Amino acid sequence: MTVQFDRIALIGIGLIGSSIAYDVKRLGLAKEVVIATRSADTLKRAEELQLGDRYTTSSADAAKDADLVIVSVPVGASESVAKEIAGSLKPGAIVTDVGSTKASVIAQMQPHMPPQVHFIPGHPLAGTEKSGPDAGFPGLFEGRWCIFTPISGTDETALKTLRQFWESLGSKVDEMDPEHHDKVLAIVSHLPHIIAYNIVGTADDLEAVTESEVIKYSASGFRDFTRLAASDPTMWRDVCLHNKDAILEMLARFSEDLAYLQRAIRWGEGDKIFDLFTRTRAIRRSIVQAGQDVDAPDFGRPHPLEKK
Ligand code: NAP
Repeated sequence: MTVQFDRIALIGIGLIGSSIAYDVKRLGLAKEVVIATRSADTLKRAEELQLGDRYTTSSADAAKDADLVIVSVPVGASESVAKEIAGSLKPGAIVTDVGSTKASVIAQMQPHMPPQVHFIPGHPLAGTEKSGPDAGFPGLFEGRWCIFTPISGTDETALKTLRQFWESLGSKVDEMDPEHHDKVLAIVSHLPHIIAYNIVGTADDLEAVTESEVIKYSASGFRDFTRLAASDPTMWRDVCLHNKDAILEMLARFSEDLAYLQRAIRWGEGDKIFDLFTRTRAIRRSIVQAGQDVDAPDFGRPHPLEKK
């Protein structure tokens, strides 16, 4: 079942906000879409891309009389946006966000939400390494999970409405508590990004020694890390600062396991190495079976002499 809102306010119009805007328009999910972003340049670009019906640099103006407000800014900016919009939210409005960390966003936003407003924290597990309004595209959320971390006592009708909204965008919706979300995401998303940032940084330091060999021979594996390490620095700085405990816990486990592997390599324990690499290969197969990636070799990159 689809749902239609009279007015949707999109606060923040980067990769996620603009992708939502394309889908809202394509699927007719709102009579009016109001877009707010902090800089005049991004706002101008959103207007050129015709992402909404009305444009403003004031979040408070955008939120006024909106039935659904979606906040898509770096998680560290959640509190300032919440403070800005609080006074103009109408009773019964649904306010949600798309932030990659949840306990911190709730702590930042919830205290500012007026009593008759339904604040439902959310996180679509969809994205790319690009940012800004030009990075968005319709269908980004198709077949991807969107996790809600509702606060106890949340109005069931509002929850159902927001669920219908994300389902209209093709998402599958799950609910979990915020701390659990933050732990799960620390391992499936935050740690891989941190490892990628780190390995690319290490290689960059080495490059002073090896000149351009790191780039020249990058197809040997290195370039797959560079995709993650090209992600938006502001967004990922905020994720690190706002999911600190879960990330540090996962990093500690990761370091222990790395030490185990390091030791196995040092002592020539081939069985241990082989067993680990066999276990991890099976995980890749499960991801493909769960429809979270395609089975194409080398992530589907074209190879010139490949048989069609
Ligand atoms: P983005 O493309 O970099 O866009 C960020 C938007 O937030 C822009 O409109 C920007 O405005 C605004 N903004 C930046 N700093 C701000 C501040 N201090 N105060 C107010 N507004 C600010 O980011 P994104 O990739 O869409 O990410 C948005 C949110 O989605 C983040 O919380 C992120 O954790 C979450 N998320 C991202 C992904 C992903 O793969 N990228 C996936 C799932 C969830 P100006 O350009 O006008 O400055």
